[in-house]
Amino acid sequence: MTETAILPAACRDLLDSVPTGLFIDGRFRPAQSGATFAVSDPASGDTLIEVADAGVEDASAAMESAVGAFDAWAATAPRERSEILRAAFDLVRKRADDFALLMSLELGRALPDSVNEVNYGAEFLRWFAEEAVRINGRYTTSPSGNGRILVTHQPVGVALAITPWNFPLAMGTRKIGPALAAGAPIIVKPAEETPLTMLALAQVFDEVGLPPGVLSVIQTSHAAQVSAPLIDDPRLAKISFTGSTEVGRMLLGQAAQNVQRTSMELGGNAPFLVFEDADIDLAVQGAFLAKMRNGGEACTAANRFLVHADVAEEFTSSLMDKMGQLQVGPGYAEGTTLGPLVNQQQFDSVAASVVGAVGEGARIRLGGEAIEGAGYFYPATVLDEVPADAPVTQAEIFGPVAVVSTFTTEDEAVSAANATEFGLAAYIYTRDVDRAFRVSERLESGMVGVNRGVISDVAAPFGGVKQSGLGREGGSEGIYEYLTTKYIAFT
Ligand code: NAD
Repeated sequence: MTETAILPAACRDLLDSVPTGLFIDGRFRPAQSGATFAVSDPASGDTLIEVADAGVEDASAAMESAVGAFDAWAATAPRERSEILRAAFDLVRKRADDFALLMSLELGRALPDSVNEVNYGAEFLRWFAEEAVRINGRYTTSPSGNGRILVTHQPVGVALAITPWNFPLAMGTRKIGPALAAGAPIIVKPAEETPLTMLALAQVFDEVGLPPGVLSVIQTSHAAQVSAPLIDDPRLAKISFTGSTEVGRMLLGQAAQNVQRTSMELGGNAPFLVFEDADIDLAVQGAFLAKMRNGGEACTAANRFLVHADVAEEFTSSLMDKMGQLQVGPGYAEGTTLGPLVNQQQFDSVAASVVGAVGEGARIRLGGEAIEGAGYFYPATVLDEVPADAPVTQAEIFGPVAVVSTFTTEDEAVSAANATEFGLAAYIYTRDVDRAFRVSERLESGMVGVNRGVISDVAAPFGGVKQSGLGREGGSEGIYEYLTTKYIAFT
């Protein structure tokens, strides 16, 4: 392991304790080829640790193990599945500090954000522990009176989860929780930037007695090559993907060959609407959370602030004050509230968005200059005077950059908000209840926050419309993504 000069001893100790193998058939093992790849520190670009690099043969071993585990796991008493999930929840909570630090190490983001994610991510294990014992069916009589209808739900079969780097724990537990609760084994392919959190979670499940094969973790540096044969395997029943729309579209194409069930949690471009009657202090607090949670690297992040012209300056200057107070530094360092972006590619993309916006007429009110030196640090940035239809408003920025445009009528605001191929999250700030309902209903979005800057909630169905995806995670809906509906007819 190459140690970075600035890594505190506690970080090194933690890294030394994390499993680095592939988790297949209930044990951590090296890749069959012996290959490894490096997990890097976004604060320096240095290698943190090497982990096993799965190849096609490892994926195939995970599939065999999952297929072998399916019948027994599907037949387990719901209470038993529930108790395993609940024990995993308790253990993640017990190790919350380690999980938080691990995420800040591999993802870069500030420790307070990582602590929030441990709480949020662990909740999916507790929630689905509770849902495991509430898989209900229905029994009814046909309207003709000539038959009885029994509707039941069965586990879908072996599932494949492909997860992104931006929430290394929660994007996994949102899939693992419902799959295990439903009785479906799951193979997880975490993002190559952040495999450590998922390996630490696999260790938790191992310790609480999850049977071999029910959960596998196959991190790899060549995702497409390793996932394609799995998707091609007719024994794979379900793909749950969280990531970019571009990759999601490709996976949908692959899934079509075997008509696999899919859940797709894809990109977002959330509008954040501030009407002239809004409580501006509240709107700024919400805007700050909606923009800066996770350093802006969130699919629900407010990507476009659409603010009524009468309150635009008050809103923008107050948001600048708040964003200007962020303390930039390595995520794991005390006092840091804005860590680096995850990698060079994200850094280049955020910097290019700002340069592009300025070229389109935007005015820089805060930040706007990439921070030089090691690591992928980009400062909190506020741009205004951005035309609502400028190209910068069409792409997901995925960084600490707030883009402010103005409107004068409600129709104009709604039509600007909907002028995107995405439809994941949207936010509205207004004191007018009628307007809150009217605008919420008109927004083409899977989720709407009214006078709230954070909408993710374990008990709510998370997901998008348009090119933001298919399916829902969390809530009472989430488990049905891993269940098939069967109808049995009786005379
Ligand atoms: P990405 O699409 O590049 O990668 C996501 C995952 O897919 C990673 O595990 C990656 O290794 C894998 N992958 C990449 N190419 C693949 C291929 N050809 N075949 C199989 N797997 C492949 O996305 P990212 O950069 O890791 O994450 C950021 C994106 O995720 C953003 O667009 C964000 O909006 C989206 N996201 C969406 C949600 C949601 O719930 N809607 C949540 C978080 C992130």
